[in-house]
Amino acid sequence: MSVQQENRFQAIISHAKEYGFVFPSSEIYDGLSAVYDYGPNGSELKKNIRDYWWKSMTQMHENIVGIDAAIFMHPTIWKASGHVDNFSDPMIDNKDSKKRYRVDHLIEAHAEKLAMEGKKEEEYALLKTMDELLAKEDYAGLKQLIEDNKITCSVSETSNWTDIRQFNLMFSTQIGAVAGEAETIYLRPETAQGIFVNFLNVQKTARLKIPFGIAQVGKAFRNEIVARQFIFRMREFEQMEMQFFIRPGTQKEWYEFWKEERLKWHLSLGIPKEKYQYHPHTKLAHYADAALDIEYEFPIGFKEVEGIHSRTDFDLSSHQKYSGKKLTYFDNEINQHYVPYVIETSIGLDRMFLLILSHSYDEEIITKEDGSKDSRVVMHIPEKLAPIKLAVLPLVKKDGLPEIARSIIAGCKPYFKCFYEEKDAIGKRYRRQDAIGTPFCVTVDHQTKEDNTVTLRYRDSMEQERIHIDAIKDKLLLRLLF
Ligand code: ATP
Repeated sequence: MSVQQENRFQAIISHAKEYGFVFPSSEIYDGLSAVYDYGPNGSELKKNIRDYWWKSMTQMHENIVGIDAAIFMHPTIWKASGHVDNFSDPMIDNKDSKKRYRVDHLIEAHAEKLAMEGKKEEEYALLKTMDELLAKEDYAGLKQLIEDNKITCSVSETSNWTDIRQFNLMFSTQIGAVAGEAETIYLRPETAQGIFVNFLNVQKTARLKIPFGIAQVGKAFRNEIVARQFIFRMREFEQMEMQFFIRPGTQKEWYEFWKEERLKWHLSLGIPKEKYQYHPHTKLAHYADAALDIEYEFPIGFKEVEGIHSRTDFDLSSHQKYSGKKLTYFDNEINQHYVPYVIETSIGLDRMFLLILSHSYDEEIITKEDGSKDSRVVMHIPEKLAPIKLAVLPLVKKDGLPEIARSIIAGCKPYFKCFYEEKDAIGKRYRRQDAIGTPFCVTVDHQTKEDNTVTLRYRDSMEQERIHIDAIKDKLLLRLLF
């Protein structure tokens, strides 16, 4: 990461805290690593992203329905899904500092250093070898690679490494009141399994025919070892997942369909296409026959925001085996019973939130009419997602202007979130709204009393126009509709 990008990332983190988007969890107790809380503006923005995803999945696709499964699930589910045996990352510890690293992250950080020194070919060769060794799960080879490249720990600066070990990422807890009889259960590490185990309940009650999808938003928990980079990698986070059930043999077409469809969703928010790339997986997870990441160019580089996975019939077949219950579907068009194949789209809500912050944050230099320079921090949050849609500002606190402003809010607040403010000069109030991404401000002045018009100011262009009070609500609704 360049110094400039590092500074931008730090500026976004400070801004998120200062303006009530994201706070470190338990801050008065010095925080809890990789856990975060969302403040007043953050919780609105997060909810708007969630609603936008939910609506585009369940309302805009007639064949997708939603569910809301519990976080606690039968422990055998995680055996069937492969998480008990496979949900682990290769880790290595530095014996001097006792710091633990995910092997791929340690090597990638070294590769980044090589790139910064202009050693592009060495960087490429290192990453290629790493990918090959990871694919073969050759841990001795990976340790050798770390030693050959003289990769050191960032704390002790030594290369005194332990052997590489697998570390399971699931959190466990006990269920049951009687000590000794309690059973170990897991906090779900993904929401997908709640969909698979409800597959038949949903298909039957919603009377769905293949192809159809089941969507879910909910918390997931992973005991991430390298928990850094703000809300990019958290131990408690939220996923928005959709499993699309299809006829076996059609997975290639549907994989292509969802790959395109999901990128379109991102672009529909007005985020430039060049900020995205697809990253196909070379090492496939045990359940997949094809997989790719949709990556976004965060200030910390191109990173995964969403995964598209062709999961075959792995999950349903495995649950069938472990539960002893039939999970087949009767396809009356071809007169056959089969276990459906599945295409999954899985996006992290918190990561999408970070994407929106990264896309939106801007330190702008403005040239004023008299030629002098000014600056502002503005969040170009997509209008539909902004925490507050409209700020209504009386120019002065007297002459009946506050009353008019209040009546505008009363007319608009059933439709979208509004904010009233009368303190400070109008310019200062605009800046405060820019900083939290409010797309529209309406100013009530003395002319309003004469002709019922107000000034509507646009956040991004800072242009202003005079409109009739009665036109405000519909004009905004048209732009905010999603
Ligand atoms: P990574 O390689 O970054 O660990 P992953 O490939 O394990 O991610 P998936 O299991 O495919 O991730 O999860 C789907 C989505 O959930 C990811 O694209 C990401 O947006 C989100 N996600 C996964 N782990 C985390 C986490 N620890 N914190 C925040 N979001 C996460």
